[in-house]
Amino acid sequence: MPKRFLIISIVIVAIITATITAYYMYRPNAARVLKFRQWINNPASHPDWKLPAGTQCGSAPFLFPTDGFVGFLWGDPMGRLHRHQGIDIFAGTDVGITRVIAAYPGYLTRLPEWKSAVIVRVPSDPLEPNRQIWLYYTHMADRYGNSFISDEFPPGTSEQHIDAGIFLGYQGNYSGDPSNPVGVHLHFSIVEDDGMGQFKNETEIHNTYDPSPYLGLPVNGYENHSEVPLCDEDE
Ligand SMILES: [Zn+2]
Repeated sequence: MPKRFLIISIVIVAIITATITAYYMYRPNAARVLKFRQWINNPASHPDWKLPAGTQCGSAPFLFPTDGFVGFLWGDPMGRLHRHQGIDIFAGTDVGITRVIAAYPGYLTRLPEWKSAVIVRVPSDPLEPNRQIWLYYTHMADRYGNSFISDEFPPGTSEQHIDAGIFLGYQGNYSGDPSNPVGVHLHFSIVEDDGMGQFKNETEIHNTYDPSPYLGLPVNGYENHSEVPLCDEDE
C-alpha cells in the first residue's frame, strides 16, 4: 500500500510539473498581449510607447526602422511550440502610411515572388565583424498582396547597395490569407548566414539573432516580460 501510494504520487507530481512547464513555455505572454491591445485600440493614448523611425539608442549600430510601438519581441511565445523570431513594430495607422527605412547599410535582395518582404545582406556584422548577417523586413503589402515596397526595389532585385535610413516601403497587413490579415506592422529580424553566402530560414528562431544589442533596446522576450522597449536613458 505505501509503495503504490508513492508511485502514484510521483506520477501525479510529474504530470503537474510538465503541465506547468508547458503552460509557462508556450502561453502567449499575457502582459504583452494586454499592452498590445491597449495600443491597437487607441495608439494616441500612449504616445510615450512609440519610437520614431531613425531613432538610434546610445551607441547601438542600427536605426529603428519605422515609427511605432514594439508590440511583440524576439523570443515571445507565439502559440504552441513557436517563439517569435523577430520584433513587430505597430504604427497604429492604416496600411500604406507609415514609412519603413533601412536600419543599416547593405545589399538588398527581393526574390521574384516576394510581395511584402526584402532582405539585406550585411557582409560584416557590426557587433561580430567576422560574420555575415541578413536583415529581413516584412508585411509591406496590403491584405491582397498589393505591394508597398519602394519602386526602387521591384521583384527580382538582387544585391542592390543601400544606405542606412533609405526608404524601403510602408507598413502593411499582408499575411498571405486575404481573409485573415495581420495587424498593420513591420516585422524585422536578423537572420543567420548559412556559411555559403545565403540566408537561413527566417521562420525559425534558432536561425535568428537577438536584435537587442543591435538596436540598443530590451527586445529579448525571454528576459523582458512586460516592459515597453524604449532606449535606455543611461546610455
Ligand atoms: Zn513578427
